[in-house]
Amino acid sequence: MRTPYVDQNACIGCGLCVTNVPQVFRLTDHDKAEVFDPGGESEDTIQREAMDVCPVSCIYWQE
Ligand code: SF4
Repeated sequence: MRTPYVDQNACIGCGLCVTNVPQVFRLTDHDKAEVFDPGGESEDTIQREAMDVCPVSCIYWQE
């Protein structure tokens, strides 16, 4: 299973990934997205609803 992770240095805290895939992503106290449940959604959904729409493309797969 591939694990998604967020490069928090690049994240601008727009919240899009959290809104689209709340089973996997949440915002930290510092308004950066983080992965709290990598298996909370299918890889397909994470790819389409979070990675592909992140305005700064800062969500990656970790093999
Ligand atoms: S969509 Fe990208 S920039 Fe927006 S909160 Fe998620 S990781 Fe951060």
